[in-house]
Amino acid sequence: MTFEPLASDFYGYENLLTDTEREALARLRDYLATDVKPIVNEHWEKATFPHEIVKGLADCGVYSFAWEETKPFENSAVFRGFVALELARVDASVATLVGVQNGLAMGAISVTGSPEQRAEWLPRMARGEVVGAFGLTEPQSGSDSAQGLRTTATRDGDEWVLNGSKRWIGNATFSDITVIWAKDAADGQVKGFIVPTDTPGYTATKIEGKQSLRIVQNADITLEDVRVPESLRLQNANSFRDTAKVLRLTRAEVAWASVGNSVGAYEAALHYTKERVQFGKPIASHQLIQDLLVKSIGNITASLGMVVRVSQMLDEGTQRDEHSALAKAYTTARMRETVAWCREALGGNGIVLEYDVARHFADAEALYSYEGTREMNTLIVGRSITGLAAFV
Ligand SMILES: Cc1cc2nc3c(=O)[nH]c(=O)nc-3n(C[C@H](O)[C@H](O)[C@H](O)COP(=O)(O)OP(=O)(O)OC[C@H]3O[C@@H](n4cnc5c(N)ncnc54)[C@H](O)[C@@H]3O)c2cc1C
Repeated sequence: MTFEPLASDFYGYENLLTDTEREALARLRDYLATDVKPIVNEHWEKATFPHEIVKGLADCGVYSFAWEETKPFENSAVFRGFVALELARVDASVATLVGVQNGLAMGAISVTGSPEQRAEWLPRMARGEVVGAFGLTEPQSGSDSAQGLRTTATRDGDEWVLNGSKRWIGNATFSDITVIWAKDAADGQVKGFIVPTDTPGYTATKIEGKQSLRIVQNADITLEDVRVPESLRLQNANSFRDTAKVLRLTRAEVAWASVGNSVGAYEAALHYTKERVQFGKPIASHQLIQDLLVKSIGNITASLGMVVRVSQMLDEGTQRDEHSALAKAYTTARMRETVAWCREALGGNGIVLEYDVARHFADAEALYSYEGTREMNTLIVGRSITGLAAFV
């Protein structure tokens, strides 16, 4: 399958990819254009989830590229970033499905699981046979989840008993397993548990009325005396520091997805403004419309440069929390500007789903807030550059 470079990759960062990586991206792009793009607006409007894409995306390899147990070929973090971009360029909810399955759930098992746990779960998850969710946030604890978790895990012989509640958990209305983060009642440390969702005492209820990422099925979860064996405790998750190792990886992926969400809006705006005629000529020939388009490609290009470098640092082994935090805070802020400019360029049609920009515009809000708000990521970078923590 031939790989066509994206015109919106203005400085040609795709040149960093190998031929094998390009082929994999071309396959994914083809699947998204044929099977996903045509159905997303309808699902967005109805807030429903197209379950068939879980397997379709697995066949494109999107849950397998990152992990040693499942990698189909050696690939770079820049390539995996372009995968996130490509998904969000079509639909940010679809990118979120993959971010939760591949990044958060499989990431937690890969980074904090034992070799036996990795071997048991990752291959099946890569094939899309097991869908995962990641339960960290709670009704009373979002930004302060490093200290504020109230969900408890109490050891009882060879089992653990989990009690508490979780909020906002993506994929959780239909996941087969949810990684639950809970405080060990004995030592107060945050530990992780792979919880099969048919375990008695586990309930997930869909959050209704969301006006962003409407295709993502977010749930409130309650855990009432949920019993899991010690073999389902993530064996290398000993404190929140281990949870943070997972978030460091996924924050950079969200930064890439925010670039993709901007690219989707920009491409739709570019197409529309070249077609739409006012005052006898396409509106794209007006200077003020070109200004909106050029500011948008400027934001995309600057953000792309940043995420490419952060991914290269991951491969070099030099990426730290503050690096992915800065990328997430900066690129999501640029995305918010970009989707607003693109929406402006369409006039009234900028708020109609059919023209795509409206969906990217609304979805930007969730990307801006999840995986650490701009404020939290700013404080992570602020602590790094000043040596002074300003969280409380
Ligand atoms: C669509 C969506 C999907 C999500 N998916 C998941 C998921 O799969 N799993 C999961 O565990 N979580 C998930 N989340 C939760 C997400 O990570 C949280 O929403 C996020 O961390 C913010 O927490 P909060 O919403 O409780 O806001 P709060 O923490 O209540 O923050 C509200 C505001 O106060 C600001 N604030 C808080 N503390 C400070 C401070 N010290 N200084 C300055 N400002 C501060 C915040 O930046 C924010 O602007 C999801 C959220 C959304 C919206």
